[in-house]
Formats: sequence, structure tokens, C-alpha cells
Amino acid sequence: MHLRFFVLTLMVSCTGAAYAQNQNYTANIDVERIVSADEQNDSWLSYGRTYDEQRYSPLEQINQESISELGLAWFADMSTSRGQEATPIVVDGALYVSTAWSVVHAFDVRTGEQLWTYDPQIDRAKGRDACCDVVNRGVAAWDGSIYVGTLDGRLVALDSATGEVEWEVVTVDQSLPYTITGAPRIIKGLVLIGNGGAEYGVRGYVTAYDAESGEQVWRFYTVPGNPADGYESDVMTAAANTWTGQWWNLGGGGTVWDAMAYDADLDLLYIGVGNGSPWNQALRSPEGGDNLFLSSIVALDPDDGSYRWHYQTVPGETWDYTATQHIMLADMEIDGAERRVVMQAPKNGFFYVLDAANGDLISAEPYTPVNWATHVDLETGRPVEVPGARFDKTNQPAIVLPGPLGGHNWYPMAYSQDTNLVYIPVTENFMGYVPDNEFTVDPEGWNTGVDFGRGFQLVQSQAEPPVNASLLKAWDPIAQEEVWRVQHEVGTGNAGVLATAGGLVFQGNRSGEFVAYDDATGERRWSTLVQAGVMAAPATFTVDGEQHIAILVGTPALPSEGPGASTSTTSASTNNSRLLMFRLGGDAELPEMADITSATSDEFVLPQISATNELISQGETAYNQNCAVCHGPSVVSTRPETYPDLRMSRRLESDATWNAVVLEGELQDRGMVSFAEILGAGDAEAIRAYVITQASLTQQ
Ligand code: CA
Repeated sequence: MHLRFFVLTLMVSCTGAAYAQNQNYTANIDVERIVSADEQNDSWLSYGRTYDEQRYSPLEQINQESISELGLAWFADMSTSRGQEATPIVVDGALYVSTAWSVVHAFDVRTGEQLWTYDPQIDRAKGRDACCDVVNRGVAAWDGSIYVGTLDGRLVALDSATGEVEWEVVTVDQSLPYTITGAPRIIKGLVLIGNGGAEYGVRGYVTAYDAESGEQVWRFYTVPGNPADGYESDVMTAAANTWTGQWWNLGGGGTVWDAMAYDADLDLLYIGVGNGSPWNQALRSPEGGDNLFLSSIVALDPDDGSYRWHYQTVPGETWDYTATQHIMLADMEIDGAERRVVMQAPKNGFFYVLDAANGDLISAEPYTPVNWATHVDLETGRPVEVPGARFDKTNQPAIVLPGPLGGHNWYPMAYSQDTNLVYIPVTENFMGYVPDNEFTVDPEGWNTGVDFGRGFQLVQSQAEPPVNASLLKAWDPIAQEEVWRVQHEVGTGNAGVLATAGGLVFQGNRSGEFVAYDDATGERRWSTLVQAGVMAAPATFTVDGEQHIAILVGTPALPSEGPGASTSTTSASTNNSRLLMFRLGGDAELPEMADITSATSDEFVLPQISATNELISQGETAYNQNCAVCHGPSVVSTRPETYPDLRMSRRLESDATWNAVVLEGELQDRGMVSFAEILGAGDAEAIRAYVITQASLTQQ
């Protein structure tokens, strides 16, 4: 009895001490703590929770029985209506989360009180260089500091208690269209950060900086540079033998914009490498070649960045098939042997299981419809391509599955140690790939070497064009087969996943819901409406012994379909982006949805103009180079809930109203930045003429 009392007292005083320390928001992470992250259920210490990036929590207070009691504890508004992709870090009483434009917020996890905000003051014109919104997927924490990579290519260290800048370094040539949207990772006191930009024309790499000083320790380039400058290493010399022509003119691509994982026992850092720049291989490396290390998982020594091994998913990449998607590590028994494996579901549609020590291919099977390759040859490790899919070589258009959105994109997966299943946010999509035979390098714009407008027309001309679908799939990585699936109501876009020992898989969706599924069957166990579309992955941890689940919600528009669809508007560039904190018994409520009524389309009268064919043609070219990626090929918005359909834009009314947006940046806070540095008044006028022409075609 006495002994029990003593233990209890000790526990209370320990908790008290921990609480007092928590008030300092110390983010006190070191090597020992992060390597044993799996045992620290009160925290979420790095992007994927642990170095193996499984996104599995052993917490089970919120389980299949108790989940009916799950409710909102508190919420916080994000001060931007752009996309929300970040997973929060939770450590020592504070939650750190990044939002669009690389802004970082810190909250007290108990109360929801905002502790500080850091705004790196990104020039909004930089949004032009971001292929896929001005998002940020998360921060990293280490020894009292919080680290964020900014859209304009800086790495910034912040004091975890105050948010004050400790140091910042520029990690890219800022005259080039590099961006950072990925979360840094920290290994043994080195902060690792990659970058993006391969749709525009850059050379990919990952850099390690000393967490204390910001000093650069090493850099690993993923593709060879200009031979005239000399190669950085023997590995780059060997890689250059797999390239032809003058690939360096557009950088070659291979950006490391998302996935990294680390195995502490093997002491290997794994990075995911992106697509070629330009996409079209015939324009990048005209005599072919594998083009290492595009579309590869590369294993590096984290101390000096030296090469250990690689596995290339798509030799001679030409479809924007990045292998930057989530990399996770796990132990599993395969054919009677215990294996440490690397798993990835990259854009190309195959689920890969590799030996973590040497990169040997164990298995690869399609997890979504694939028509560019019949299978992956386990002897050679290479995909067996379907003749005709390689549009660059045949110079013939091809409708290819998956398309550049990927069978799976950046949305984090999760792996349950209970079910041994991987939960994959899968998309079924396609693209008409048409080589751009008039391709010239646009130093300020999109450089893919693929004609999006004609590709779209090709798809539309099919008797039965393929359809997009969005699913959550439970995948058995040993048998390489689907176990269950949930089909989402909205067919485009998906969201990150969390698995827990409570027998639950959590995922948001584009219909404005946050949902918990039975991890064994996919049956819905719980859901709540969140007033926003969801892309980001949830995180879970304990606060004062209570399990909490945090999720950032918000896509660049309100949901337009499904149970959480907004009834008041489908106006683009509006959302309810928030951080939501859930726990059992939580009884907070979201405020009433603001009534944002957009003008209805029947009030809209298309202006009559007289324009020469030459002007319209100039407008088409300028539109395809600068506008089509967001606003849709041939001015048909494929994502009108996010990017307005310009055929109904009131801004078409006059050159003045049009130029106020296109050249003067009137809507830049909503994401439409000024194109004045790229387009002259003549171009803007030509684009307006082209858009009006396209609009009048649809009205006929
Ligand atoms: Ca890409």
C-alpha cells in the first residue's frame, strides 16, 4: 500500500515537472529521442512520426468502440485560403504547423492558444514558380529549434519557444524557378531539404545543413550537370553515361520535393527523386538512355551524402512519373525470411517492395490501372513497356494511365503494424500525351514538351473517355494485392492517412469530411463534417494522458460535391482552412459557415469583340504556356472548384478589368499573381481574345 502510494506520488511529481518544462516549448529532440520516437506516444516528432515514416501510432484510447465519443476540442483558423498539406509536429507541449506561403504557427496543445507565428514574407509573384499551389507540407524540430523550407528556397531555423529567426540560408539559385514545399528531415543534427521545379527547368538535389549553425555540410545532385563544368563525383560521371544530347539546358529535373526516410540500423537515408525536365524525353535526352537518377529511390550515407544504392522505377522517364512519393520502411516476413523493406507507391502505378539494405527488387505489382507497362520484370528490375505508350519516341499521341497526377501522389500513406496493410490514397487518372513539336524553352514558364491542349482534345474525342476516381485502398504488401477499398465521392484529389492501434484508419476527403475506417474491413466507424476539403494527413499524440488527433483542413476551394458540400458557394479561392483538434468528449463547435454568395452565371453576358485570327492564335499559345496548367486546357477548367472557369469570368468584360488581374495582380492574395514580368499588354489582350473565342464556341 505504501509502495503504491509512493509510486503514485512519484508519477504525479514527474508529470508536474514535465508540465512545467512543457511551458518552455523546448522542442527538445536529440538523436536518442527521435530514434525511439515509436515509444513516445505523447509526441509526433517528425513528418512521418518516426524515421520509418509508417504513420502508425500505438495509441488505442480512441478505438473502434470509443470513437463514437470523438469530438472537436478546439480549432484555429489559418490566415490563408490556399491549400493545406502539412502534418503538424507535436513536442513538449507545443504543436508546430506550416500553412501556405510557408507561414509557421505554434500552438499550446492543451488550450489551442497561439504561441507565435512566423511569416517568411514570400513575394507573392513567386507563386508562378509553384507547379501545384504555394503549399508547405510541414516543419521539422530539433534541439530547441523549428525548421521550415520556404517557397522561395530558404531554410529557416526558428526558436521553438518564441518563433524568432535563429538563422536562415538560401538553398537554391533564386534566379531559377526552384521552390520548396516539402518538410525538412533531421538526422544526427543535419537538416535535410530538397526542392521542386522540374516542370519549369531545374536540376534536382538534396542538401544537408548543420542544425546548429546553418552551415552546408553536403549536397547530392540527382542528375548530372553540364559536362563543361565538370562532374561533382564518380557517381555523377557514371550517371552522365545514361544521358544524351544537351540535357543540362533545362536542368534535367529529378527534384527531391517530398519523400525521405531513414534507417538508423543500416544508417541509410532514402530520398525519392522526381521527373525529367522537360517531361518529354526526346527533347531532354534525344538518343534515349535511362537518365539516372530520375524516378528513382536513392539510398545515401546521411553523414556525407555519398551514394549507396538506387532503384529506378522508370528508366528514361517521359510521363512525369516521379518517385518522390512517400517512402516507408518496415520489417516483414517474406517467403519465410525476415526482411527490412522499403515500400513506395510512386506515380507510375506500381507498388514496390525493395530490400532496404541493398535496393534489390522483391516485388512490384500495379495498385491502380496502368497501361504504359505490362509488368515489372523481377529479373532485370525494369518495367516492360507497352509499345505506343512512349509518345516521345513514336511521336504519336497516347492516352496513358496513370497520368501526371499519379496513381498516388504526395498524400502520405500509412502502414499498420496490426494488420500489416498499407493504406494508400489512390487516384485513377489518365492523360492524353501529345508531343509538343513546336517546343521552345520558355525561360519564365512551364517547360514540359507536352502539348496539354491537344492532349485534352485527344481525350475528349474518345467515344468513352476514361474517368477519374479517388480511393482509399488497403494493400497487402507481401501478397501485393488489394484487401479492401473505399471509393470517394469526389473523383479528383485525395488526402493523407493515419493508422492507429485502435483498429482505425483516419482520412479526410474532398467532400468535406474527416472519417475513421475499420482497419480490417474499410467499414466507416465515424465521420464528421469539417467545412472544407481535406488533403493533409492527421497526426495523433497524447495530452495529459488523453489521446488527441490533429488535422489541418482546407483545399483551395470549398467542397462542391458530397456530404460536406457547401450550399452557399462554389466560388474558387475560398475555403475554411483550419487546424482541428479532436479528443474523446470534445464538444467544441465550428462556427456557422459564412454565406459567400457568388454571382450566378445567368447574369453573365459574354463581351462581343472583333479579333484577328492571328491575335487569337497568339492568345492560344500564350494561354497554353502560362494559364492552361491551372485554368485547364482549351479554357475548360478541369477543377472549377479550385481554378475558375475563365469562360465565365466577369473579368473578360474589358481589357482594363482583365489586365487588372492578369498584369496588375489584383487577385494575388487569392492566388492569381501578376504575370506582368512574363506577358506584355499585347499577350494579355491576345489571351483575352482567345478565352472569349473559346467561351463563344461553348455557348453556341
Ligand atoms: Ca512533376
